[in-house]
Amino acid sequence: MLELEHVTHVYANGTRALDDVTLSIPKGMFGLLGPNGAGKSTLMRTVATLQAPTSGSIRFGDIDILATPDRLRERLGYLPQDFGVYPRVSAYDMLDHMAVLKGVASAQERKQTVETLLNQTNLWNVRKKAIAGFSGGMRQRFGIAQALIGNPELIIVDEPTAGLDPEERNRFLNLLAEIGENVVIILSTHIVEDVADLCPRMAVLAAGRIQLEGAPQDLIQAS
Ligand code: ADP
Ligand code: ADP
Repeated sequence: MLELEHVTHVYANGTRALDDVTLSIPKGMFGLLGPNGAGKSTLMRTVATLQAPTSGSIRFGDIDILATPDRLRERLGYLPQDFGVYPRVSAYDMLDHMAVLKGVASAQERKQTVETLLNQTNLWNVRKKAIAGFSGGMRQRFGIAQALIGNPELIIVDEPTAGLDPEERNRFLNLLAEIGENVVIILSTHIVEDVADLCPRMAVLAAGRIQLEGAPQDLIQAS
């Protein structure tokens, strides 16, 4: 369970990107829906401990993530909206390298981790190809493979379907749905269908505030 209490973020120029956000996010897939500029990326970066909020508190299980961000990072998988890659490096080598950084020490264990992730994300056949040649869908699936290294308990995916064609989008969302019910997965998106199709729980963020929270079918009936 991820719990945010009274989280506010005011940027240096005075923009109030998050305004008193209180939210409980259970295990399973959770949709954070909102228009561009709503504050979704700010919220995702804050939960991923990349920026500290101006005020408020955030807990993940027994971890106070503002006081002990390192404890959260060990359990976190994060797929940012625009993630950088080394374009000439192969998918296999990049995942292997990231597994080293994540502390997967033994070569045998790394081989197993990387092979499992390449199969899970359907990238086995292109494992030796440079990431520069990947389509948008392949790139996003590679991003998920990266985020899954080390069996994270909290997975944050920020606007993952932007720019994907319908087939790639379905493939990507089905992959997310397969990750499991025993982890917290937060899917941030401005596309209603991404959330309605897959997420048992959701919240709507607009102008930095939570406008609605609940099950998609209830919210869609209510609106
Ligand atoms: P979303 O991800 O929903 O599009 P963001 O979190 O990116 O929303 O942005 C929320 C608001 O904060 C917007 O008004 C945006 O312009 C502003 N914002 C985002 N990043 C910064 C920044 N580094 N400095 C100032 N304002 C920012
Ligand atoms: P998706 O629609 O899921 O992004 P693509 O249609 O781009 O996937 O690719 C489907 C298959 O075609 C891949 O699994 C791969 O086998 C092959 N392929 C496509 N592009 C490349 C590439 N740049 N390098 C190697 N194989 C590729």
